[in-house]
Amino acid sequence: MAVNIYKKGLTLRWKIVLIYCTLVFIAIAIIGVFIMGSLERYYINSVRGNLTNTVQGGILISLGNYQDLAGSSTEIQSNVNAAWARTIQEELFVIDSNMKVVASNMENEGRGVIGTLDSDVILKALVLGEAAESTGTITGQDASIPIMNLAFPVRHSDAVTGVVYVRADMTGIHDTIDQSKQIFVNAMLLALVVTIIMGFLISKTITVPIKEVTQKAAGMAKGDFSQEVSVKSGDEIGQLAWMFNELRAQLSNTLLQMSSEKSKLETILRYMADGLVAIDVSGRIIHANQTAMRILKVEADDLENKLYDEIIKDLKEDLALKELAEKCESGVAAETFSAGGSTYAVRYDRFKDEKGSDIGIIMIIQDITERQKMEDMQTDFVANVSHELKTPLTTIKSYTETLLDGPALSDETAKSFLSIIDSEADRMNRLVKDLLHLSRLDHKQEKWFKKEINLIPLLRTCVKNIEFSAKTENRHLNSIFNPGDDIRVVVDKDRIEQVILNILSNAIKYTKSGGRIDIDAFASGRKAHIVITDNGIGIPESEISRVFERFFRVDKARSRAMGGTGLGLAISKQIVEEHGGSIELQSREGRGTKVTVLLPAAPMRGERGID
Ligand code: ADP
Repeated sequence: MAVNIYKKGLTLRWKIVLIYCTLVFIAIAIIGVFIMGSLERYYINSVRGNLTNTVQGGILISLGNYQDLAGSSTEIQSNVNAAWARTIQEELFVIDSNMKVVASNMENEGRGVIGTLDSDVILKALVLGEAAESTGTITGQDASIPIMNLAFPVRHSDAVTGVVYVRADMTGIHDTIDQSKQIFVNAMLLALVVTIIMGFLISKTITVPIKEVTQKAAGMAKGDFSQEVSVKSGDEIGQLAWMFNELRAQLSNTLLQMSSEKSKLETILRYMADGLVAIDVSGRIIHANQTAMRILKVEADDLENKLYDEIIKDLKEDLALKELAEKCESGVAAETFSAGGSTYAVRYDRFKDEKGSDIGIIMIIQDITERQKMEDMQTDFVANVSHELKTPLTTIKSYTETLLDGPALSDETAKSFLSIIDSEADRMNRLVKDLLHLSRLDHKQEKWFKKEINLIPLLRTCVKNIEFSAKTENRHLNSIFNPGDDIRVVVDKDRIEQVILNILSNAIKYTKSGGRIDIDAFASGRKAHIVITDNGIGIPESEISRVFERFFRVDKARSRAMGGTGLGLAISKQIVEEHGGSIELQSREGRGTKVTVLLPAAPMRGERGID
């Protein structure tokens, strides 16, 4: 199972909320700073404007009439009293060119405060003759008070005679600005709360589909390709969902194709006639098909629990992995070996991954026992045929030479030589005929003239044909079958006759003088049985299984003396099998032999559909 390697951290939802909040905070802060600055400037400007207008339009004009401000202080004080009632917000001082307070709206109190006034502003107005201003704080009873100082030069005939100094209390304005700030902060907090709520709701529209895609992807990782993601919008997330569905469909299709290819391959491997074994570099068997398991005599469990070397050593030790790797160093290697009575051909080679590095060795094991047998049989067959032909040819040649080159022979001797030559030629003729017959049977070139007949008359004909030679040889032929029986079979009459005659002639050949041969026939279990039993020499038990092989003869000399070719039973077997039947031979040495021919009974009338 895949390990979850996600780093735990803020969820996307929280990230979106955080980004929203940060943006809203920055936006409100910028707006706040801007607005507060403007507000502050507006209030200060309006205070400054009002005071300037009041001072310049009023007291400044009247003070311009005095050449000596200090000298007219009483008059000026009464003017100030009249024009500027004492206020908490603004304190007004008329200061002469000697920096002395001449009059004030605080009356005599004002004269003592010169030290608390901003002398820089006063001097600026006095020396430069321009209005000057400054801001600051003064320490009140409880707290420091924000103030604005304004100084206007008093002119008499272009000469600056003094200064009108106004000190305005800015507490009110500052309070207003502070209040505004508070309102702003509250608004900002409210906005942030709303942003968090909205952020949560909005982020849901993004995170829910993403979560769905993630869940479905996790399902896919576990091999579940059944569910689709619902596409609710056409935006990027909608496209992601759509793309995910596409991906899922493609993947599931590809996997389906892969698994069908895999099962195809597995089926091919499973039913392959050859064994296939794949071994990795560590010596473990990655794959072995059923044929390979059968040859190696292992179960599926053994493949997991045992290494290849442990398994192969029972079959052939020098096929261990190390040896295989060495032998196929420069390409495919092959060898043949025999083990446990079977012959095997193996081919093996290294197999590599796409980068070219060795993954292991792949090996094909073929059980070639049958093929080997066939090849051996073919070789034997050729040797047998040559031998069988050579013997009569040698005889014919030597007798002919004697007849041609020898001294004059009597007619009788010459005749006997010629009769030997004739019989050897007959033997060769029989042999060649039998061989041609076998070849036609092998190559399915034999023409069959099958028709439905009663087996009994056929057997009677056979008995009749061989009766004479049996009598001559002093063998007793007994027909046990009921002459009135009707055993229906569909056969090529001549060929089946050939089979029966061959078995009967064998029975005569391999039975001693005075021997007895029984012929029986009956129908049983939809089969026609023909049983020919003799009490002759029999066949040793170890040889019985070979009597149907070509050229096999228990006693070659006897068979040859009797004119046998060793092909009779082989031909008989092929003819009977061509009819869908079988032939069996049971024998006991010295006791006799029983040959049974089984032929399928002819279909009954109803079965043939010709009622
Ligand atoms: P052959 O031409 O030698 O008779 P067959 O194929 O007919 O060849 O028989 C093969 C061999 O089987 C014979 O050579 C003989 O050794 C043995 N055989 C066949 N039939 C009998 C039998 N009835 N009794 C004993 N041996 C038999």
